Amino acid sequence: MTAVVTRFAPSPTGFMHVGGVRTALYSWLYARKHGGRFILRIEDTDKEREVAGAIPHIIESLAWLGIEWDEGIDRGGPHAPYLQSERLDLYRSYAHTLIAAGHAYPDPYTETEVEAFRKKAEEEKRPFLFRDHRPETSDTWDGTKPLRFRAPRIIRYEWNDLARGRLGAGEEAVDDFILIKGDGYPTYNFAHIVDDIEMGVTHVMRGEEFISSTPKYLSLYEALGVTPPAFVTMPVILSPDGKKKLSKRDGAKDILEYRNEGYLPEALMNFLALLGWNPGTEQEFFSKDELIRTFDLSRIQISGAGFDEIKLLSVNQHWMRQLSLENFIAQGGFSTFDISKLKKTVPLLKERAHTFAEAREMLSGELSCLFSEPTLERDRLVAKEPIERSGMTLSALKSLYEAIKTIPDGVSAEAVKDVLMPLANAEEAKGKGGRGAMLWPLRYTLSGQERSPDPFTLISILGSDEALSRIRKAIGILEG
Ligand code: GLU
Repeated sequence: MTAVVTRFAPSPTGFMHVGGVRTALYSWLYARKHGGRFILRIEDTDKEREVAGAIPHIIESLAWLGIEWDEGIDRGGPHAPYLQSERLDLYRSYAHTLIAAGHAYPDPYTETEVEAFRKKAEEEKRPFLFRDHRPETSDTWDGTKPLRFRAPRIIRYEWNDLARGRLGAGEEAVDDFILIKGDGYPTYNFAHIVDDIEMGVTHVMRGEEFISSTPKYLSLYEALGVTPPAFVTMPVILSPDGKKKLSKRDGAKDILEYRNEGYLPEALMNFLALLGWNPGTEQEFFSKDELIRTFDLSRIQISGAGFDEIKLLSVNQHWMRQLSLENFIAQGGFSTFDISKLKKTVPLLKERAHTFAEAREMLSGELSCLFSEPTLERDRLVAKEPIERSGMTLSALKSLYEAIKTIPDGVSAEAVKDVLMPLANAEEAKGKGGRGAMLWPLRYTLSGQERSPDPFTLISILGSDEALSRIRKAIGILEG
């Protein structure tokens, strides 16, 4: 069996989005699984659609995700160059082979003439086929005219798609399409086939928009006398409600935006792998190595895959939780926060945050009290005090103060709770709501916020001394 060779061949026409990255991922996984090679080739033959900066962006996105290529742009290899615009001589030489064998001819018409043929066909309500206007004789091709493929008359094309099974299309599918344009650049249809042949590609994975053109590719392979590679069609990615194709509005964004928002590459890889492929088990979380081991083509689904952002958040949270304390801090972008306090806060962040951006927001929001002393308001301190038990907040804080003095530093939230809860329960015994009336001012005293972690967790992170100092301040306000 020949070794597996796959490739990712993006056109540099914009940023990398989830669809493109998923194609790269599946191609890469398949090559890795079979000990094959994965190539990164840039298809830049449509100079009008090219976007500046797109190539470095593609490279950066794949590198961030950990999808390494064995040969290709920025890396070199036996089939260099990997930029199609630098391979024009090669396409020309294939073109001459096709001309010599009678499979290609220069288009003798002007654009206006071709347009007139098209219009006439439309008026007569029949499909426009260039091959109906094929000239009897051809000039030699000097490279200034488009070069067209002489499409064979084949009744029906059928082929096997490794994800979709048997696919087919009728004769109208293949016309005399352009191989090389008047500007000297090859079309996608031609260039990618030349390159896939030259680079020994065995499996081509791409979106379903290419199915209708597959008969063209098959007839070109035939004309060149080469066996086509295996085709694998990716399922379309749908919006979260599953009703339409994923658009920018429903989250089809630049993959590097996920990095900026504090997603982990292992999470994106895990999530994208399952977006259109299923392992056949209930397993939800896959490391890179597990994916390489488990991935196969037969479980690529045919129907569209809904893009579920909530799922992505939970996958990201899972991978954030796997990080060691040091890695969590190193990757989180937390440089503005006090490191020793941060270390104590990491377990809380792992429990609550789904992304590093969310973690940073928490540190400046509901968890900011762990880094700086809050300002307290008297009205808020007594907000939960029952009318019939006036002065209760003050006495509650005083007894809590005495109890907290006995708590050593470095103990767990559970241990703090064991010391303080009996006091709160005793208050509850005196009157319904007493527990809350005691714990609310404690939590507010420590955090200065309506919402925060529970007071036991806060004390275990802040340490008793800091907690006592904050309680003294609250007592001062109530007595003042
Ligand atoms: N250059 C094509 C694109 O970006 C790639 C299609 C293919 O993989 O053959 O859409």
